[in-house]
Amino acid sequence: MRFGIDLGGTKTEIMGLKADGSVALRRRIATPKDYDSLLRALVDLVRGAEAEAGSRGSVGMAIPGSESFGTDLIKNANTTYLNGKPLRLDLETQLRRPVRLANDANCFALSEASDGAAKGAGTVFGVIAGTGVGGGVVVNGKVLGGAHGIGGEWGHIPLPAPTVQEITAAPVCYCGKRGCLEVWCSGPGLAADFQRITGRRLPAEQIAASNGAEEQAAIGRLIDRFARAMATLVNILDPDVIVMGGGISNIGRLYEELPPLVEKYGFNLGGQPRIVKNMHGDSSGVRGAAWLWPEGKS
Ligand SMILES: [Zn+2]
Repeated sequence: MRFGIDLGGTKTEIMGLKADGSVALRRRIATPKDYDSLLRALVDLVRGAEAEAGSRGSVGMAIPGSESFGTDLIKNANTTYLNGKPLRLDLETQLRRPVRLANDANCFALSEASDGAAKGAGTVFGVIAGTGVGGGVVVNGKVLGGAHGIGGEWGHIPLPAPTVQEITAAPVCYCGKRGCLEVWCSGPGLAADFQRITGRRLPAEQIAASNGAEEQAAIGRLIDRFARAMATLVNILDPDVIVMGGGISNIGRLYEELPPLVEKYGFNLGGQPRIVKNMHGDSSGVRGAAWLWPEGKS
């Protein structure tokens, strides 16, 4: 049995996957409000799941952050009490086995590469575009975390080939830099762009759902920006499949319009890249966490 845990800001979920990838069990709890309660809850979740499944298993976990380079401490987590805590070591001590952690975007990419929309592909880039823009790289079934644990974090590259208007209007990102892909291509980025051009305030979901000319023009600008960023990515990594996730991935035009645009902006690709919607949706984090142990042992 492989157990995956998705540690979210409000909900924490455990899933048990059988050897063939089918779901044996899943449980969900509210994410505790402090670190000690969280540790206890995670240990209880694993023990409870093992009792229910009747077997011990490997434990992988998707976290909204990453482990700091050279230390075992969590950084960049928006569940802020995790930052600076040795979560993996504490869990390993309590569960008496090795535990693997990965960023939730990496788990998304791993889930889709293992048995989702990119199953069988060698190099997969997973994009999560919703409240932010994240990404993860999986090569031959393994997450490419990188030397500093930020492999795939393309949300904080500057928007490539900006127009004069995009340079002057570039919003400041929470990371402190200006004009990150995230401030253009996230849901809030789409809404801010729409408001800048039209003077109207609309949530991203309503812009995406509308057939209005101004709304569709904003979607067109979003797609063009994504295409420039993806062309840069393709020139470096040339993934076999790019899988889209997050709320923005529900925009149908992405899958029609991105491939030819990425080919146009890329370096003589000689064909369109394969860009697909995710298969597992909200379950990708918890499934990918389980797949952090492809060998299925603990
Ligand atoms: Zn940024």
